[in-house]
Amino acid sequence: MARALLDVLNLEVRYGGIMAVKGISFAVEEGEMVCLIGANGAGKTSTLKALARMLPSRGEIRYGAERIDALPAHALIGRGLALVPEGRGVFARLSVAENLAMGAYHRRDHDEVAADIEYVHALLPRLKERARQLAGTLSGGEQQMLAIGRALMGRPRLLLLDEPSMGLAPLMVEKVFEVIRTVAAQGVTILLVEQNARLALEVCSRGYVMESGRVILADSAANLAADPRVRHAYLGE
Ligand code: ATP
Repeated sequence: MARALLDVLNLEVRYGGIMAVKGISFAVEEGEMVCLIGANGAGKTSTLKALARMLPSRGEIRYGAERIDALPAHALIGRGLALVPEGRGVFARLSVAENLAMGAYHRRDHDEVAADIEYVHALLPRLKERARQLAGTLSGGEQQMLAIGRALMGRPRLLLLDEPSMGLAPLMVEKVFEVIRTVAAQGVTILLVEQNARLALEVCSRGYVMESGRVILADSAANLAADPRVRHAYLGE
């Protein structure tokens, strides 16, 4: 079997004496869209932050042909691994256009950056309309779109999305997920963290369920959605 694009083995994350992620293993193949679901505090965000090297961790993280678990976050720039953080993390006092430019600041292929801005504007027309507006004055949904657009400016191969539906009205959630589906259809591999398990299992092909820092279930999205434990605990049935 071909090696997965992302292969995680016995990942542990600690905050002082508290172990938030207790030795989890999972993999994401190139081109897949996979979700991590679970309740508040299950360790999903800590897992994504460790993958993006924003938190120290133990265990192996293989991305492409290399191990990245000893690298600092800045070393991932240019390697095509991008995190869209919980709460979006846009630069509130910069304009929409400046935020997008920040996503490409490490790139020297200026013509292609210009082409990618066109691509992001085509995908997210609202960002073009609002190019000069300060990011902090955008609606929550628009900020989420901007956070995704900024990540796309780095031409990611693997996109880590942390709770993109959080705090958004249902119609906006639909729009954001339409964009995520489009990005996935264009070949970007996606690891999605969501508390909205119903939505996550609808758009992803596979998923992992986390509980108290461990992976307790791993299966196809269809099987997870049909699993009585998932239906009871995460789908409100
Ligand atoms: P949420 O959806 O609420 O973000 P989560 O599944 O993403 O939940 P994490 O945010 O990864 O969970 O948190 C996992 C555990 O680690 C929780 O018990 C949390 O309280 C703890 N934790 C997270 N960040 C810190 C921190 N900076 N210091 C101490 N403990 C932390």
